[in-house]
Amino acid sequence: MNYDTYGSTAVELAIDLANADLGDPQWVQAFLGSHTEWFTDGTDLGLSAADSGRVGETSSLVREVALAGSDPEVMQRLNALLALASPKPYATDHDGELHLHYARPDADAVEQLTTTVAMGLSQVVVQHGWQRLGVCSADGCGNVYVDTSRNASRRYCSNTCASRSTVAAYRARQRA
Ligand SMILES: [Zn+2]
Ligand SMILES: [Zn+2]
Repeated sequence: MNYDTYGSTAVELAIDLANADLGDPQWVQAFLGSHTEWFTDGTDLGLSAADSGRVGETSSLVREVALAGSDPEVMQRLNALLALASPKPYATDHDGELHLHYARPDADAVEQLTTTVAMGLSQVVVQHGWQRLGVCSADGCGNVYVDTSRNASRRYCSNTCASRSTVAAYRARQRA
């Protein structure tokens, strides 16, 4: 499975947002600062407390979609996320490749972020199935991931968590 088939890599932004450390009081600024490429040049990334709260809500909704375990659950949570979006798609080649943007280029940072995340995530769910979204099985991790493996067999958010869990399982077997 290739991100090209999504027509968008916006799902990566959604996953990053769901995995942000919401316990850090500066998390919204840190998150925006490390994802500036997703915003139109000149977008004001200095958010009010209320706007930061809205970004937190979007983060939680993405996580809830990944945790959902049935069609009705996924639909209800996805629609809650989509209700926050204001899509106004347009085609662009600003980075040299023709692709779609989902939010108005002059929308504020929250609208750009929420819209891109909601549209990117829904496309993956609709085209590839919600089973492609998961939560890492490694002890104490809890990161959300999108499974792009051929046979949808992924259980961990990263190679780090996969090998950490393999080592832990091996040690547990040796103790037994
Ligand atoms: Zn772009
Ligand atoms: Zn993990």
